[in-house]
Amino acid sequence: MPRFDFDLFTIGAGSGGVRASRVAAAFGARVAIAEERYLGGTCVNVGCIPKKLFSYAAHYREDFHHAVGYGWSSTTAEFDLARLVANKNREIERLNGVYRRLLDTAGVTILDGRATLIDAHTVKINGQHRSARYILVATGSWPVVPAIPGAGLAITSNEAFFLPALPRRVVVVGGGYIAVEFASIFNGMGADTTLVYRGARILRGFDHELGAVLAEEMQKKGVTIRLNANIAAIAPTDGGLRATLADGGTLEADCIMYATGRAPNTRKLGLEAAGVTLTAKGAIAVDAYSQSAAASIYAIGDVTDRVNLTPVATAEGMAVANTLFNHRPTALDYENIPTAIFANPNVATVGLSEGNARSRGGAIDVYASRFRPLKHTLSGSDEQMFMKLVVERTSNRVVGAHMVGADAGEIIQGIAIAIKCGATKAQFDATIGIHPTAAEEFVTMREPRKA
Ligand SMILES: Cc1cc2nc3c(=O)[nH]c(=O)nc-3n(C[C@H](O)[C@H](O)[C@H](O)COP(=O)(O)OP(=O)(O)OC[C@H]3O[C@@H](n4cnc5c(N)ncnc54)[C@H](O)[C@@H]3O)c2cc1C
Repeated sequence: MPRFDFDLFTIGAGSGGVRASRVAAAFGARVAIAEERYLGGTCVNVGCIPKKLFSYAAHYREDFHHAVGYGWSSTTAEFDLARLVANKNREIERLNGVYRRLLDTAGVTILDGRATLIDAHTVKINGQHRSARYILVATGSWPVVPAIPGAGLAITSNEAFFLPALPRRVVVVGGGYIAVEFASIFNGMGADTTLVYRGARILRGFDHELGAVLAEEMQKKGVTIRLNANIAAIAPTDGGLRATLADGGTLEADCIMYATGRAPNTRKLGLEAAGVTLTAKGAIAVDAYSQSAAASIYAIGDVTDRVNLTPVATAEGMAVANTLFNHRPTALDYENIPTAIFANPNVATVGLSEGNARSRGGAIDVYASRFRPLKHTLSGSDEQMFMKLVVERTSNRVVGAHMVGADAGEIIQGIAIAIKCGATKAQFDATIGIHPTAAEEFVTMREPRKA
């Protein structure tokens, strides 16, 4: 008789947990996975996937407008959020089914319910104790709303995906990627949208020009951006909500959405009893192999608050499966992780920002270009694209690539391979462009910016 019920017990069937479980099972491990809410986790249900679908939906309004310059008749299209939500829900249900089948086919035991830890080898779920040689905590994160008066009247991204109708006036609070994405979504759908952010520049943590350029472009499209502003209280009014700002000003809205941060899902999991330690921010503390302070307990994804992205969570899951069940101890390489922000226009980035490259001390050259893409010569739009390369002068290596503009994520994904391979600026220059594209700008910028 085996000593444990399972070789691996995964808590949380999101991006990281599902990947780790499937790969571990493929290596021959006996695996169980517990899920309390929805298969596929945040990304599939209330994150990347529905967000991108909403972003597509929001884009049509300006596409209809741009088409007129290309000879199409002006249309008066109506937007029905309820229909989009229903169609999106159907697609997500299909994906939930795909995830269930993937796990079933891999031979993973799915346990629907909330799991908690009893000790370093025991999990409790639906009143039963299950033992495992290893436990993987992949419980993700949850949005947090600051404790201001009236906070309960605000929504988060979780609820934004299920609104029954498009609010007429929306206030989005925050300056990170989820905030700018939703401000673009609501604005594109036709709501009167205001973004309120307490800092001086949106997209803090990214190359400084990305936030500045994005703010300018979003404002051209009609989003009102209030920087250095903070909501002190929210109160109901006759037909909607009133946000009182810290400076005493007020904003009237029908919907106020907070996107000011997410907290790791570590509460009431029994982690401390099992010997797991937490960071100051409440995330599970792990080493390079995602092993926690308790030797038999591993943790991956948002609950560890390292790089909170789906492809990172899945890569960490694969690494843990390789480490534990394939005799290949694997530590993830966190250098040069590309990422996109699906605001309108899109933003994408890989490698070092200009600021980070400068703070390393070595000399750098910056190549940058801002231009009107060909499409907008006839569309009537004054939207501009922005591209930037950061080059380490001594090695000539391109250490950062940044972009604001249509399809930025699609373009930067390719550039990320070159950067991961250590490509030099000379190799970028030797690459023939594809004409006419916007992306060719990345291989034709010849003059570094004057310092
Ligand atoms: C609005 C939004 C947009 C995003 N857009 C992008 C994007 O475009 N690209 C990108 O890469 N990332 C995006 N992300 C981030 C991405 O969704 C997360 O990084 C990713 O889902 C993390 O995966 P995970 O496995 O750590 O956790 P999750 O996917 O959150 O999965 C955790 C799972 O654990 C379950 N769970 C929690 N506690 C228990 C318990 N005790 N017992 C049983 N089950 C439990 C939860 O129900 C959940 O299903 C977005 C996130 C949000 C909120």
